[in-house]
Amino acid sequence: MPRASHKAAAWLVLTSLFLPSFPALAQPEAEAPQVVQTRDSARASPVQLAHTPPPSPFREDLESYRIEYRVRAGSAQAESVTIESHSPTGETLDVLRAVTSSAACAAEGVASCFVSEPFRLVIDAVDKQHPLLEGHALIARAGGRLRVLRGEQELLTVPVAGGGPLAQADLRLHVFRVTEGGALSLMQPASVLGREIDRANAIWGACGISFDQPEKRLTVHDPPAPFMLSVGCELPAPALGGTFSFRVDGRELSVPVAPGSSPRSAARWVAAALTKAGFVPSLIDNPRPQGMSLGSTDLVVRTKQGKLAKLSAAPTHPLSSDPALSLCVPEVDLSNGLRHFNDADSLVGTMEERLLVRSVEDGDPTTIEVLVIPAFRGEARIGESFIGLEHGAIRNVLIQDRAAFRVGNASFTLAHELGHILLDQPGHTDDFGLDTPTFLMDADAVLAGAFGPRRLTPQECERAHQQGRATEGSGLLRAR
Ligand SMILES: [Zn+2]
Repeated sequence: MPRASHKAAAWLVLTSLFLPSFPALAQPEAEAPQVVQTRDSARASPVQLAHTPPPSPFREDLESYRIEYRVRAGSAQAESVTIESHSPTGETLDVLRAVTSSAACAAEGVASCFVSEPFRLVIDAVDKQHPLLEGHALIARAGGRLRVLRGEQELLTVPVAGGGPLAQADLRLHVFRVTEGGALSLMQPASVLGREIDRANAIWGACGISFDQPEKRLTVHDPPAPFMLSVGCELPAPALGGTFSFRVDGRELSVPVAPGSSPRSAARWVAAALTKAGFVPSLIDNPRPQGMSLGSTDLVVRTKQGKLAKLSAAPTHPLSSDPALSLCVPEVDLSNGLRHFNDADSLVGTMEERLLVRSVEDGDPTTIEVLVIPAFRGEARIGESFIGLEHGAIRNVLIQDRAAFRVGNASFTLAHELGHILLDQPGHTDDFGLDTPTFLMDADAVLAGAFGPRRLTPQECERAHQQGRATEGSGLLRAR
């Protein structure tokens, strides 16, 4: 009996726990395919990506689906359907051929009812190819759709959702050269970053969140020349009295520092001297590093035309003659690794980090800046993020080095660091609870494969959406 000649209606169900009763749903005269609301209405249509690693052994659970449909004629015991998964832009992402077997079917005028094996929607080929999921997984993307075909006949299309509304965050990508005019931190940055963003899209797709693509916003930079002064440097203390001396665009300036001045007030005297000399300084008061009673103040110096000025020490005088309060001209040297923050100065960043970030910062709170550098100093770090916590000196910025791209599928550095920013959360899931190495936000998990750090919980999805839209028009997420 040719299958295509039979009309069928189809619907999706979750698990046998929630199988809808057939008599109530059977409407043989209804020709159109339908998605039936199951009793678990939250998990009816649309379908969602799975949030958990493959169950072992594979079994039907709340993250799996079945296709059910009924036919008016025919007596086959088993047949099959094709489930196609399409991306939001319509490309075919994956195809699953699912065997369906005849099921109890009490509706009048219906010859047979068929039900497929359970399957789940997964984020990528790593999940799909896991032996536990063999024949039970289909790669899908939030915003895409599933199309179910019985032979040539389309039984059903159903949208794929993420854990939350579809939203997008805008990344601005900055790749630094190791030295002025020298080699890039990353060869073929557009394609390497493109793959890293694809991985982040797959993981965050479980929350309905995606990131834009690199060709749109990728810029290459030389390491910045010094354009900033830091009053107090890394040990901010009250002045005992002395003089600050420095050169700005070739001019030498001296500023007396009164005893008892805090870094903040001394910085304002420096700003006044710079303004008098025809420059345009911007003052940034940094938060206090942990364990210190005062914070430092940075001055970014521009010309009247808006160009960053060039700063250096004066040839004959020390930067600060004050025995307690220091003045620094921070420099970036990427050839020996970026000096990175530790726990005590994580809100402030190091002077080198602040100079690097300020050289590309756009002041736009709705974008995330991604900086790519050759390496951090020392071996341990491959990525770090500065989040929008109330008093942070730098916000919505993440820095990633070349090694992070090599780790790739094992640690998902970009997706993880984006997690700190989107969740507005410096901590890790294992700081307070059990070590769960399958969570993206676990601190130390490095493992390739389906049990690696690649899962976001529904609670994290909810938090990211809440944070991302906290202030209308100034949040990191916009509707897609
Ligand atoms: Zn982290």
